[in-house]
Amino acid sequence: MSKGKLIVVSAPSGCGKGTILGKILKDKKRFYYSVSATTRKPREGEIDGVHYIFMTENDFRQKVAENAFLEHATYCGNSYGTLSAPIDEHLNAGQNVILEIEVQGAMQIREKRPDAHFVFIAPPSLDVLRDRLTGRGTEDPEIIAKRVIQAELELSYQHFYDYCVVNDDLKKAISDFLAVVRAIELRVEK
Ligand code: 5GP
Repeated sequence: MSKGKLIVVSAPSGCGKGTILGKILKDKKRFYYSVSATTRKPREGEIDGVHYIFMTENDFRQKVAENAFLEHATYCGNSYGTLSAPIDEHLNAGQNVILEIEVQGAMQIREKRPDAHFVFIAPPSLDVLRDRLTGRGTEDPEIIAKRVIQAELELSYQHFYDYCVVNDDLKKAISDFLAVVRAIELRVEK
């Protein structure tokens, strides 16, 4: 059996990353979603061990000290990290491992894992992203403005990635994402 591929996926908030990955990750045989650790409080409906491994600041620091993270970063005041242990186990089992992380963490993986592939999911434009973030109607304008600035910053990292899927139309974005994964699977390892 051939090894799976390590695939890092980043996208600014509001790009539909969750929806795209949600569809793709239904194929549990082909994909393993790496569940990150975070110090952020669970949102409604989020389950410990499924969406994230929720940790206290102290537990997180302890894991950093133990060198348990492949990468970790602070995002909007909370810590997030990818635990190293399960990754190679799933790659060796032939599954593609998806790391859904922000750009600073992705840059760390670039240094540490030459076998990783990098996919960016982008909005069609910043205006569309602004509309999408506003359209959620759940956040006040100040938070939306902060998110737009954060999104702009993250978009500037796009050129560090190997592939970019533009989410203009969800169906097309899913099919493009699967095309990228297929290309990664067929790549000849150097
Ligand atoms: P949220 O709090 O909205 O679930 O995630 C905030 C950001 O943290 C998203 O961009 C998400 O991709 C990123 N993120 C989630 N898990 C990790 C992780 O393990 N490492 C890093 N560096 N970023 C993560």
